[in-house]
Amino acid sequence: MADRRPGPAWAGAAYLGAAALLLALIGLVALRGARGPSEAPAPEAGPFRDPFTRPAVPALPREEAVAKQLSLREARYCTKLPGDEVQCELCPTLCRLRDGERGQCKVRVNYAGTLYALTYGRLVAEHVDPIEKKPLHHFLPASDVYSIATAGCNLGCVFCQNWEISQAFPEDAPFLLRSPEEAVARAAQAKCPSIAYTYTEPAVFFEYMLDCARLARAQGIRNVWVTCGYLNEKPLRELAKVLDAANVDLKGFSERFYAAYCNAQLAPVLRTLEILKEEKVHVEVTNLLVPGGNDDPGEIRAMCRWLATRIGPRVPLHFSRYHPAFRMERPGPTPLETLTKAREIALAEGLRYVYIGNAAHADGSTTFCAGCGRKLIARRGFWVLGNEVKAGACPACGARIPGVWPGAEPGSVVTVPVDEPAPGGK
Ligand code: SF4
Repeated sequence: MADRRPGPAWAGAAYLGAAALLLALIGLVALRGARGPSEAPAPEAGPFRDPFTRPAVPALPREEAVAKQLSLREARYCTKLPGDEVQCELCPTLCRLRDGERGQCKVRVNYAGTLYALTYGRLVAEHVDPIEKKPLHHFLPASDVYSIATAGCNLGCVFCQNWEISQAFPEDAPFLLRSPEEAVARAAQAKCPSIAYTYTEPAVFFEYMLDCARLARAQGIRNVWVTCGYLNEKPLRELAKVLDAANVDLKGFSERFYAAYCNAQLAPVLRTLEILKEEKVHVEVTNLLVPGGNDDPGEIRAMCRWLATRIGPRVPLHFSRYHPAFRMERPGPTPLETLTKAREIALAEGLRYVYIGNAAHADGSTTFCAGCGRKLIARRGFWVLGNEVKAGACPACGARIPGVWPGAEPGSVVTVPVDEPAPGGK
């Protein structure tokens, strides 16, 4: 299954219970008044207001940020402009902010001409998850991943499945203080071979993610970025140097869908996928199918064709079932037939590893060898029932399977690039 929502809490010494956190968040966001997206006007016709309008992000006085113990860590990737204005250049939204204003992500603010990151080291979620939950099916299967998030997201998807934390205001969201040293130590303590920056959009806590990732890399812990892919090229290439894997949420395959449902653009996300491939980061792609939004067979076919030609036919693709959430109360969950049809289209377009998440499907959670068709990894939900991949290869035909796999020696790994030429094109 490809449910990325924060799961059962990891019982750390100072850990706040996930249930309490969630309840507190829901309560606080609901009580926030006219500021929160949850208070957006009710839909008039259809699942949401069309064209989609995102409420303006209110300013956050510096005194309130200090009183709420938010971080005032100077942010990177920005340009100071005359008159105490700042241009944030971290993501394609390119917010231009006057003194006291903050960006669309709600977590980067301009005070007197300096841009600050408000959520550095302020975690709203901290769990140990199975790696299959990210979802990553070709990265150290059945391993645990220490998974963390701060509040905030630079997109505004009306169907967000994690909106309680992604769309929360940082001053409202209860958080745990975790320095990068503490976060990496907790991952090591939990014997996790990797850390995932996940649940919300990690790009908006770029500085914290990068500091954690560098420390983790130095200690032999791998880094996983679960992302919408909305990050500009310079910071992305810097981040990619310490990434081992990424799952990019490709929301759809039209600018229309991105504009109407996500308040964003498609083109920068496609560029992110290309850059990750160039930087040799193991990439998997998730596509949440929203009925009536991005489930047109022609659009799915075009997406799969693009992935097969530009990223490679061996890139793993996860079609994920949507459930009504945030500003979309209808339609209901994605029908299984839609997910099945999408998988058939992807296979017909030449993609070799196509999965179905958040829904029970006979073959949709199984890894088959692209060389001989042998069943290599059987899963049920997030659990691996059996794994026959041996040092990155099929034991029957020897075909190398793209991904990051346990090697022959304890603690070693074998990395098979997604774009590695395969015998017979398989
Ligand atoms: S990271 Fe935030 S402040 Fe910066 S451009 Fe993107 S949405 Fe705007």
